Amino acid sequence: MKILPSAESTFAAPSPAPIKEDSKILLSSPHMTGNEMKYIEEAFRSNWIAPMGPNVDKFEKELANYTGVNAAAALSSGTAAIHLALQIIGVKPGDRVFCASLTFIASANPILYLGAEPVFIDSEEETWNMSPRALRRAFDDALSERKLPKAVIVVNLYGQSAKMDELMAICNEYRVPVIEDAAESLGSRYKDKASGSFGKFGIFSFNGNKIITASGGGMLVSNNEQAIQKARFLSSQAKDDAPFYKHSEVGYNYRMSNVLAGIGRAQLEAIDDRVEARRAVYKRYEEELADLPAVSFQPEIEGSFSNRWLTVMLLDPEVTRVTPHRLKRALESDNIEARYVWKPLHTQKLFETAKFYRHEGKVPVSEKLFKYGLCLPSGSNMTYDEQTRVIEGIRKMLV
Ligand SMILES: *Cc1c(COP(=O)(O)O)cnc(C)c1O
Repeated sequence: MKILPSAESTFAAPSPAPIKEDSKILLSSPHMTGNEMKYIEEAFRSNWIAPMGPNVDKFEKELANYTGVNAAAALSSGTAAIHLALQIIGVKPGDRVFCASLTFIASANPILYLGAEPVFIDSEEETWNMSPRALRRAFDDALSERKLPKAVIVVNLYGQSAKMDELMAICNEYRVPVIEDAAESLGSRYKDKASGSFGKFGIFSFNGNKIITASGGGMLVSNNEQAIQKARFLSSQAKDDAPFYKHSEVGYNYRMSNVLAGIGRAQLEAIDDRVEARRAVYKRYEEELADLPAVSFQPEIEGSFSNRWLTVMLLDPEVTRVTPHRLKRALESDNIEARYVWKPLHTQKLFETAKFYRHEGKVPVSEKLFKYGLCLPSGSNMTYDEQTRVIEGIRKMLV
């Protein structure tokens, strides 16, 4: 018997395609290479399911190589790396630490863990990072009060390096060590030196939204190998060298898992591609929004190379009445995630009693950047069409 297709199946009108919601475009989502499982399987095969292990050792060496420093310690987070850097420098309760104001809270929380006093430094307009002028004034005051800071935490926001030459010169003059928070700037350079390699310590983060990720994790780097040895010691409960459990100082459980280090290793192999992709995302935004007089972007100063972790734009209030808040909401309704610029730490309730040094003029630069800035989707895995959607969403509001 011949089986004929039924009339219905042949001639029925095609059912209407379900209305396809545009999928959500995220700010910065993890971008796997495909090699991660290889290193994870290695960890499983050898049963190194632990903090420490061969992936951790290799990840440390590979990252130290990539950034051109002598040594690195893989840790559970970037925040842990800042905490250990401050501890090794010898920050004690009541000590002062200078810190950039325009940054994620993680830059400054470890100052509080140690009972120290944060003093916040404004941004300058050219890099959006720590103002050398404001830093100079903060040092002048600290000197006359006879209470110099124990450390200065400089941040390279959204991938753009701070003016490291000027900042290092001031800190060196007072012999105060610098911690370079390069959580957002892996792959960036300043005068042909890797971001994160300038201070006594540099820190990186491999949180899920960073340019490369280990799902979570961080790295402390330094040219001082002894200091990194000390970090490894402190991050694994400060166990003295003895046949029994011997402890003579406070320690932490801050080591990176050998499984997660496997993810990190595969990700690091792709860092240059990721930087290129994010820079291409930035370039397209810049080109396709160039005719809008209200729009400008975080600059890339001469002599620096930004990984463009996030493309951040500013809306000029003298040209448009559209605020970042309104634009963010409009993009949200198109299923596009945008985020505010970090809210300056000197304006946070947590730090309401902290001192603050502004760059110049009445309104702090960091507050202006917060008020008029918006971070755009910038993932290295964004498609061309996704980016077109973001660009159209912005143009709809601003043209
Ligand atoms: C992400 C980030 C950190 C903290 O890193 P974690 O790994 O999430 O602890 C620190 N500083 C800045 C500027 C960051 O963006």
